Amino acid sequence: MPLHPAWAKNVARRVLAATISPEPDRKHRPAIAAHFDDRGAYCGGQLPLKWHLDHLVSFDLGGSNHLSNRVAACPPCNEDEKRDMEWVAFLRQKCASDAQYQERLARIQAWRARHGGDADAVVPEATRRAYTREVQFVSAAIDEAHARLKAARL
Ligand SMILES: [Zn+2]
Repeated sequence: MPLHPAWAKNVARRVLAATISPEPDRKHRPAIAAHFDDRGAYCGGQLPLKWHLDHLVSFDLGGSNHLSNRVAACPPCNEDEKRDMEWVAFLRQKCASDAQYQERLARIQAWRARHGGDADAVVPEATRRAYTREVQFVSAAIDEAHARLKAARL
């Protein structure tokens, strides 16, 4: 665990994000993996034990933490490849044929429909603005406390 202010700020951001948009309970993981046939929603590869619950639309771009915005993904797709790419474009890129693309797209859409579609997939703008303010406030406080203690160290 890197005891650096950036780490504390990242944890604070995730805690505050979960406050406005709760993370799905871990008990849902088996049902999610089963819906996606134990395969990554984008690439179709076998899910490893520690698969990721990817955001279709990233939290920073307005997506929520709700299940309607989450799919099972392998770590390379989630961490390295998709980044902030629009998910439909990323899915298309990961499919070798149109038939494969249509099948995976239908599976993702069925998952979303099962969890209410668009209703909870996005964080309302006013809520997001309040969240951004609090993140900035907490981040500045962590930086300032860190700087004060560094300066005061004997
Ligand atoms: Zn993948």
